[in-house]
Amino acid sequence: MVLYQCRRCKAGFKSQSEHEDHLMLPKERMCDTVPAEIVTDPEDGITDAIETRLATPEEASAGVWTWEEIWRLIFPRDDEIPDSGK
Ligand SMILES: [Zn+2]
Repeated sequence: MVLYQCRRCKAGFKSQSEHEDHLMLPKERMCDTVPAEIVTDPEDGITDAIETRLATPEEASAGVWTWEEIWRLIFPRDDEIPDSGK
């Protein structure tokens, strides 16, 4: 399981120190940025960013997230929103 992810190249790291070492590389060895749409597989599940947003206590307790909003976050390219089963 990847706990830390480079925001530039999306490489995953198991520890914070590995991640920091990677970020502290000299400029000429610095990783290249990868556009999110290339690495983001919508079927791959919830990204860290979405997970963080969903986990925001104020938003969670306020119940502001509808199934449709969550679905749109996870699968922005899907036109069809399946029934939540309610
Ligand atoms: Zn990187």
